[in-house]
Amino acid sequence: MDIMFEQIKWDAAGLVPVVVQDFQSKAVLMLAYMNRESLQKTIDTGSSWYWSRSRSELWNKGATSGHTQQVKSLSYDCDGDTLLLLVEQVGPACHTGSYTCFTNPIEINADAHPSSSKADRFAMLAKVEEVIATRDAERTEGSYTSYLFDKGLDKILKKVGEEAAEVIIAAKNNDQDELRSESSDLIFHLMVLLRQQGLSLDALMTELENRYGKPTTNKMR
Ligand code: AMP
Ligand code: ZN
Ligand code: ZN
Ligand code: ZN
Repeated sequence: MDIMFEQIKWDAAGLVPVVVQDFQSKAVLMLAYMNRESLQKTIDTGSSWYWSRSRSELWNKGATSGHTQQVKSLSYDCDGDTLLLLVEQVGPACHTGSYTCFTNPIEINADAHPSSSKADRFAMLAKVEEVIATRDAERTEGSYTSYLFDKGLDKILKKVGEEAAEVIIAAKNNDQDELRSESSDLIFHLMVLLRQQGLSLDALMTELENRYGKPTTNKMR
């Protein structure tokens, strides 16, 4: 076995916990365990393999449900006691049908964490990205976002075009309420398109950072 296997702190049962994240939205999807064999199979196949503690067997995620995970990257943490797996998740990650297993929030005292500071005023975009990813995974009955994913690329492109036209009309009419509303529609549909195309908001942020983050370069025309 690989030298890397010795960097990992396998517990007494020969297992290590794996945090599984959506490579695109960065949502934490689930936590599972690997033994040496499942890690090797994951590396060899590019599909996620775990050890089921309840069933005491190797488990290829999605083998029965079809909700498979294609591995995008794999790493271990500072002290080798946890793995991090970034995946392209097909459908919901949770066996309950939820996009993510983490659907049970525990309330934190609001006074202890003052929110909506200036630094995180765009955090809403990340939230929208996660809602879109959830609708993509769960294909919720009656959800407009799920409907867009069901319809596919051409429908999404048509909507992006329409909303862009509506933004133009609102601006031409000097109608601020309309412009705010149509711009929100445009950004939403653009984000649906990015999800459908497998591009993360992070990739956009990196692109913007490359353009504007470095003080001396100026790629603008
Ligand atoms: P699947 O691997 O999705 O075909 O599901 C097979 C079985 O694995 C399910 O019936 C569950 O018992 C279990 N399972 C699937 N996904 C999860 C998960 N995210 N967390 C815990 N158990 C799961
Ligand atoms: Zn650790
Ligand atoms: Zn779950
Ligand atoms: Zn609109």
